[in-house]
Amino acid sequence: MFIRKLGIDLGTANTLIFVPGQGIIINEPSVVAVSVRDNQVLAVGNEARAMVGRTPETIIAYKPMKDGVIADYRVTESMLRYFIRKATGKYSFFRPEVMISVPAGVTSTERRAVIEAALAAGAKAAYAVKEPVLAAIGAGIAINEPHGHMIVDIGGGTADVAVISLGGIVACTSVKVAGNKFDAAIADYVKKHYNLAIGERTAEDLKIGVGSALPIQNELSMEIKGRDLMTGLPRTYEIFTNEIVTAIAEELDEIIRTIKGVLHETPPELAADIMDKGIVISGGGALLRNIDELILQETGVPTYIADGALFCVAKGTGIALDHLDVYKRSIMSKK
Ligand code: ADP
Ligand code: MG
Repeated sequence: MFIRKLGIDLGTANTLIFVPGQGIIINEPSVVAVSVRDNQVLAVGNEARAMVGRTPETIIAYKPMKDGVIADYRVTESMLRYFIRKATGKYSFFRPEVMISVPAGVTSTERRAVIEAALAAGAKAAYAVKEPVLAAIGAGIAINEPHGHMIVDIGGGTADVAVISLGGIVACTSVKVAGNKFDAAIADYVKKHYNLAIGERTAEDLKIGVGSALPIQNELSMEIKGRDLMTGLPRTYEIFTNEIVTAIAEELDEIIRTIKGVLHETPPELAADIMDKGIVISGGGALLRNIDELILQETGVPTYIADGALFCVAKGTGIALDHLDVYKRSIMSKK
């Protein structure tokens, strides 16, 4: 079957491709490996991620969507080309229509760069929609209604807090504190308390395996291996849930402050809607244990984890692409 429509969630951590009628067909890390000598792209996605931390000096593994903005146009184009090719198949002569998520804070130049990159990478037409809007669509929120909705997307590089009404963003703040910063904070904690150096993947395993946003009574635990900073030798320790809670408390606090800030600048009518309907959280960070409970405790607003939290933006791109007329108010550009 030929694929004519592709939705792309160009995340800081993962790139997902959603095809209307088929669902998510690609889910790979947003990583590109580039050779230093001749600036060639060597690998993209899973293959490039496997090189992170293991590359010889002649290869750099790059995350072109660092912090939710396109850090390098050329690398982003290669990445898009790879993913579009992979989705449509090498021999497809149909050029697909492509919908891409862009961070809420993009400038018009950055947005154009994404659309140009998609066209250069083989798209027949490219549209861009702001990520929080897509996350809301993917979470099943009726965004075109004259009601206020708050969506909090916690990804790898950024946490985005947005209030949406009538298909547009009424208030929005993005902070560069999300999954990656949690991982770094966990690695820091382990270093400080155990004199143990662990890598970012181990820190992430701890976060996902035993982490929580609030202390719990029946703690989970996990054994981790790292390098003792005193002796230089490998060592194993058991780490418990409430240690992770402590390790990431400051980062979570920053996200809570951001949510409060956005609530503060939300017009009263819309704030009342949000009180009624609650806050919806999406992105991988929404899966951190008890994060809904923490947001409820801190803001007093009931908080719900979106179904398929990791896939909301991707799903939103597919839905928007299939209903361009319904979402025309949210679509930023067309070619
Ligand atoms: P992005 O949109 O920036 O690519 P994602 O929404 O895909 O990010 O989320 C990726 C982040 O979510 C990573 O930091 C990952 O560690 C984190 N994550 C994924 N699953 C879980 C989980 N079960 N608990 C906590 N964090 C998680
Ligand atoms: Mg995302």
